[in-house]
Amino acid sequence: MVRDAHGSCISLMGVFGHCAVGLAARPMAPKVPLGVLFLATVILDVLAVAFAFAGIEGHKTGIPWSHGLFMSVIWSGAAALLASRIYRNYRAGTVVGLLVLSHWLLDFISHPIPFSSFSWRSWQWSFGHSLPPDLPLLFGGSPKVGLGLYNSISAVEATVLEFGMFILGAAVYATYVVKKRKAGRSR
Ligand SMILES: [Zn+2]
Repeated sequence: MVRDAHGSCISLMGVFGHCAVGLAARPMAPKVPLGVLFLATVILDVLAVAFAFAGIEGHKTGIPWSHGLFMSVIWSGAAALLASRIYRNYRAGTVVGLLVLSHWLLDFISHPIPFSSFSWRSWQWSFGHSLPPDLPLLFGGSPKVGLGLYNSISAVEATVLEFGMFILGAAVYATYVVKKRKAGRSR
């Protein structure tokens, strides 16, 4: 969990749900190392931390550069271009780009999250029904969105959901690895 400048947090927990998508995407991008797929799923949070430290994002400005829909599409496109160049493979690029975008979609479903009330000792947060959405469509002053799933379920339920997603993703990945090994042996 990383505390950014304005005290709202990016949860380590959320990383599991995002990385689950990376695991599940592996069969579609066999040329891309798993670590790169993971990085693609959490790069918007990495940017958020960097921008908070640099003072570009914070309490007043919100998170338009890392988590605005417009910039998320731009980052996804940039990641897609970069990956298709590195791996000389358009499919690899497309998968990496979509993984970056998947972060925004999952955040759109889960945000806003009542992190400021989260207690590590009791593993609970209190629902902040008045929490405003925190994902801007464009930049400062543009409408903010977020369905707020994690604002209406408990921290325990959110944890179960995250780990459930991770196990599902790991199952997809494991099935792929086993199939590949079998195919390798029968050759
Ligand atoms: Zn995020």
